[in-house]
This record gives sequence, C-alpha cells and structure tokens, in this order.
Amino acid sequence: MGKTFAITDLRRGLAPAGVGAPASDLRPGQDRLDAMARPLRDLRISVTDRCNFRCSYCMPKEVFDSQHVFLPQSSLLSFEEITRLARVFAQAGVRKLRLTGGEPLLRKNLERLVEMLAALRTPAGGPLDLTLTSNGSLLARKAAVLKAAGLRRVTVSLDAIDDSVFRHMNDVDFAVEDVLAGIAAAIAAGFAPVKVNMVVKKGTNDDQIVPLARALHARFGNAVVLRFIEFMDVGSTNGWRLDDVLPSRDVLARLREIGPLTALPATVDGETARRWRFDANGQEIGLVSSVTEAFCGSCNRARLSTDGQLYLCLFASHGHDLRALVRGGADDAAIAASIDHLWAGRDDRYSALRTAATPFDAKAHGDERRVEMHYIGG
Ligand code: SAM
Ligand code: SF4
Ligand code: SF4
Repeated sequence: MGKTFAITDLRRGLAPAGVGAPASDLRPGQDRLDAMARPLRDLRISVTDRCNFRCSYCMPKEVFDSQHVFLPQSSLLSFEEITRLARVFAQAGVRKLRLTGGEPLLRKNLERLVEMLAALRTPAGGPLDLTLTSNGSLLARKAAVLKAAGLRRVTVSLDAIDDSVFRHMNDVDFAVEDVLAGIAAAIAAGFAPVKVNMVVKKGTNDDQIVPLARALHARFGNAVVLRFIEFMDVGSTNGWRLDDVLPSRDVLARLREIGPLTALPATVDGETARRWRFDANGQEIGLVSSVTEAFCGSCNRARLSTDGQLYLCLFASHGHDLRALVRGGADDAAIAASIDHLWAGRDDRYSALRTAATPFDAKAHGDERRVEMHYIGG
C-alpha cells in the first residue's frame, strides 16, 4: 500500500487562478490551444465529493472512513456558480459537460442543475453535449426526471456481474441487481445506448470480463456499450501497483473467447476508447488503455472540482481557484481571461510520461501527492 495523504493537505496548497491575467485577445468560439496545441473541449464537473460506495480503487474504506472530513456545504459551488463557469467555458471552446463526483446523484436537486446547463449554448448557437457518470445506485429513481431536465447521455460504472464480486468491489454490500435496474430505467427513459464502465483490476474482477459482456448483451442487447478501463494510479490512496493492471490487449484476447471482433473507426477527436464490435451480434465494446497506451496527445479535458478548483490533468497535484474569482466579484471577461491564460500554459501529459518511465516510479514525476478522483471526478 502506498503512502496516504489526507486530501486536505492538497487543498491547502491551491494556486491562484491567474488573477489579473491579461485580457484575452481570443474571440468567443475561437479555439484555445494549450502548450501542446490541444484545444479545450470537455469539462468534467464534480458536483459532490461524497459517495455511497467505497470502491477500493477510488475511495478505499480505510481512508474514507467515518473520520474523513468531506467538504462543507459552504465550500461547494452553487448551481448558479457552476452554470456561470460552464457558460464561460462554452465561450472558450468547451462542447461537452460531464457531471460526476463522488456520486453525482447524491447532490440534492441535481435535475435543476441539469436544466440550467441544458439551456447553455455554444457561440455557434448549438446545445452542449450534457452527460453524467454515475454508479447507478440511484438511477432507477432518477433517470426519467434527468431525461426530462435535458440530460443527453448517461454512463454507469459496473465492475462485475457476479453479485458477490460486485459487493466486494463497491465495499458497501450493494447488490448488482439494483444497478442493473438503474441501467434498465435509463434505457426506458430514452438514454440508449447507455455506456457501462468496468474498471478491471487484475486478480480482483478480471474473471468478470467475459461474463459481464455476455450478461449485459443478453439483458439489454445493443442498448448498452461496455467499456473496459485499465486500473489507474489516480490519487495517492488506492495502493496502485502496475501488477494490478490488466492491459487492454489482454482484455481483448479474453473477449475473443466469445467470438471474433472487428475494430471500429474513432468517432470524435479526443476519444479515449478504442471501439470494437462483435461480428456475430453487433455488440459494441470499448477499451480505455489509460495506462498502457496513454492518450495525452489528444487530451482536451479540464476538470472542475466540487469546490471550484480547475485541474488541467487527472494527475495534477494542484488546482487553480476559480471559486475565489467567482466569489471575489470578477466579471465574466476576467474569468475568461484566467481560463485562457491557464489553458495556454498547460503542458500536462502525465500518462505519457508514466508509460515512458515504466516500471512506474511516481517520484520520477516530481510529486506523489495527487488529487483524489472522487474530488475532481473521473
Ligand atoms: N461515482 C460515479 C461512478 O462511479 O461512476 C462517478 C465518479 S467516478 C470517480 C468516475 C469513474 O472513474 C468511474 O467510472 C470509476 O470507475 C472510475 N475510476 C475511479 N477510480 C479509478 C481508477 N483508479 N482507475 C480507473 N478508473 C477509475
Ligand atoms: Fe464512488 Fe464512483 Fe469512486 Fe466508486 S468510483 S467510490 S462509485 S466515486
Ligand atoms: Fe489528459 Fe492528464 Fe490523462 Fe494525459 S494524464 S490523458 S493529460 S488527464
């Protein structure tokens, strides 16, 4: 198990968000390119740092126990603050918003935020691609109201089809059937195809790859697209070891036991998954090789934490305080100038460096205290 650091340590070291950044000469809608010529397209918004699961790869029980201090309500960005920032980000080129957490459906009245974000427009006048990632536990109750509020797509995390393996993975004894009911409700509400994410941890749930693919197809047909995610070294608490990673190429080899697959072309720039389709029944699957095949070269994602810190990389050790700007009375032009300034200086490519430095040595990258995933979202 790696050394653990309380998240509050990280939060103390927040950097200012480029207050007083020179006015940007970029027009709304004009591409903002970072130091590696990557545009800003995708904003992930964490709406809560709390979760009702304790997945060991994300919020291990030993660390996130009853003593753990979560953010107080006053620290959280309000729906108005989130919407205002999202509007400025849309002017800066963002086309996709993903609500995440923690477990986003734990945030009270989330459908109200969805409604507010669904009303935003790009500089060209189009809607944003508004999506949500959830553990599915509350989806059966919420799917229809989220759809009515304007949510476009849903991704559900599900790490096993065997009930005992799943209960072990979520570590709060949550039944797999209740997540499946959430997926069914999402499909019934009109969200098909629903993406289902399975984080694969070697020796823990890799025996679930083939059974999960088979079971989801048997139950939902092609209304579900299953994606396999390599277990990542995010944060500093999940005891990550390279030995626990099952490379995507091995996942693919196991899936070939079901039948032949054909590779599909990429659909959008910055797509993280390599897509495949089973020849026999058309079932689509995706492989997200965050560890073995880094995709930093096309990474167009920024992340906004629950308390309004902007992170330019999932593996960043500090954020930039946009909440201070918002609450300090900055106008939209000043916030936009800060975002432009920060994005222009972005040269993060953690995964690419880690891949190059295998076997992994966190210290080689300068700082092993990294932000936790539930705080900035996946
Ligand atoms: N609670 C929601 C959920 O689980 O879908 C949203 C937040 S969660 C942090 C977002 C995604 O990150 C989930 O699909 C989860 O499986 C993934 N994730 C968390 N820790 C991870 C890790 N160490 N490696 C790979 N994926 C991880
Ligand atoms: Fe919660 Fe999602 Fe993290 Fe699991 S992966 S502990 S469901 S935030
Ligand atoms: Fe993007 Fe950072 Fe992940 Fe690379 S490591 S793909 S830059 S978030």
